[in-house]
Amino acid sequence: TAWWHQVEPAPKDPILGVTEAFLADPSPNKVNVGVGAYRDDNGKPVVLECVREAERRIAGNLNMEYLPMGGSVKMVEETLKLAYGENSDLIKNKQIAAVQALSGTGACRLFADFQKRFSPDSQIYIPVPTWANHHNIWRDAHVPQEKFLYYHPASRGLDFVSMMDDIKNAPNGSFFLLHACAHNPTGVDPSEEQWREISHQFKVKGHFAFFDMAYQGFASGDPERDAKSIRIFLEDGHLIGCAQSYAKNMGLYGQRVGCLSVVCEDEKQAVAVKGQLQQLARPMYSNPPVHGALIVSTILGDPDLKNLWLKEVKDMADRIIGMRTALRENLEKLGSPLSWEHITKQIGMFCYSGMTPEQVDRLTKEYHIYMTRNGRISMAGVTTGNVGYLANAIHQVTK
Ligand code: PMP
Repeated sequence: TAWWHQVEPAPKDPILGVTEAFLADPSPNKVNVGVGAYRDDNGKPVVLECVREAERRIAGNLNMEYLPMGGSVKMVEETLKLAYGENSDLIKNKQIAAVQALSGTGACRLFADFQKRFSPDSQIYIPVPTWANHHNIWRDAHVPQEKFLYYHPASRGLDFVSMMDDIKNAPNGSFFLLHACAHNPTGVDPSEEQWREISHQFKVKGHFAFFDMAYQGFASGDPERDAKSIRIFLEDGHLIGCAQSYAKNMGLYGQRVGCLSVVCEDEKQAVAVKGQLQQLARPMYSNPPVHGALIVSTILGDPDLKNLWLKEVKDMADRIIGMRTALRENLEKLGSPLSWEHITKQIGMFCYSGMTPEQVDRLTKEYHIYMTRNGRISMAGVTTGNVGYLANAIHQVTK
């Protein structure tokens, strides 16, 4: 017998399993609001026009050489401007250690490994709830996890009081994972004023903030506005870490292009940190893939293409915001006695509907609507064509 004969099948991924079930359903009415990927109003995947144009420009002078260990210098430079601001002193002073990463997931994992290596006894505080993969990432990096409260089920909003209590009660100098904008899965973000209070309390406690920014531009339609949380922390002089991804905001899901950055006290420290990040990457994948990075640097390095991108991000965000309004209005028109205000209050790709696992099961069984059992609706899967059907089904299972 093989040495691996005792290996058990791994548990199904709760999100990817939804798509499998959807694909297997022959019903013509079926709706997939499970996946976290943008779809147009016909339910089709989108390649942005700025990406198509960048590809045309790249095609002529492409080579397949390795990137440096830290990835595309130009891509990283442009990416830092998005998070830290075009005129950031931190960038000018070369205080930021940054490397290209395998999208947002890879950036989080590289950070978790860095944390384990240089702060081996530390833990990470993770919001309840969070993107499920955060737990896997820090688990596999052998960093123990603690929770902080975030979501308030009754109001379907932020549990700010509990969150602040947990921040205050954590030991000084703790690591916290924060979603920079468009919190997944809840769609609930702190207000600007609340971010200021959070940042202040982090200062008091000497906590370290690691921002996962997977949706910059997707929340409000404006990448600058969506970076507000980070900018508030920077104003307060925090040395933060940040994971960035171009999966959603450039539609480059499968290209796996992103960036990990760590703000340092000075250039010398930044050089050291960057070297150590590369050292962590080297035995895992040696150096990151070239094509996606080239697309990003081509777009952001050209003012016209960058403007086109900004317009296209806004179009995607606006379509989602429009679908939030439509879903809520449809539910209200059907005479639902429940409050659906949270659908339009929440932001980003997801709506944390508050439906129970049993209600979600009924949606799937009776209406062929597929989503995760935590009641999370991917608003990107909602279209003018299916919003009425979806609203009616939700009404039927919640009334
Ligand atoms: N963080 C959060 C909160 C996410 O929702 C996602 C995507 N689902 C990611 C990180 C990473 O995505 P990717 O690795 O595709 O950039």
